Amino acid sequence: MSDCIFCEIVKGRIPSIRVYEDDNFLVFLDINPVTSGHCLIITKNHYKTTSEVPDELLAKALPLAKKLAKAALAGVGAEAYNLISNNGRTSGQEIDHWHLHIIPRRNREELPLKTGEPADLTKLPFVADAIRSNL
Ligand code: AMP
Repeated sequence: MSDCIFCEIVKGRIPSIRVYEDDNFLVFLDINPVTSGHCLIITKNHYKTTSEVPDELLAKALPLAKKLAKAALAGVGAEAYNLISNNGRTSGQEIDHWHLHIIPRRNREELPLKTGEPADLTKLPFVADAIRSNL
């Protein structure tokens, strides 16, 4: 047994409700769904966060998310969805194997995403500079 639950799911040693599979990705239902139809796209290979996933795989991940989201919305009768990727413990990532949540939404209350406080506009250019200088 590997230490990684999602690697075990890929190998079929831990059961999952599979929705889709190809050479690179597996999609299955989240065992603790935020809403009905909540699924997870995972890479078949083990990468911890988005930063580790090769660019060519990431380029395939969003088109796949688009396809799965469309199917999920039609399948469970939802009108909107969130795509969420937690990267690192501080962000809320619990399983250290890259995954993208697709969460169908019927109303805003299902997933209260809090927005931040209004920014100090005099500081934002410096924040942008700090990010740009690390690109
Ligand atoms: P995250 O906090 O982004 O790492 O989310 C991990 C997600 O994996 C959570 O929503 C869990 O409910 C889900 N999860 C954990 N174990 C399983 C499992 N065996 N089958 C399906 N989903 C799982």
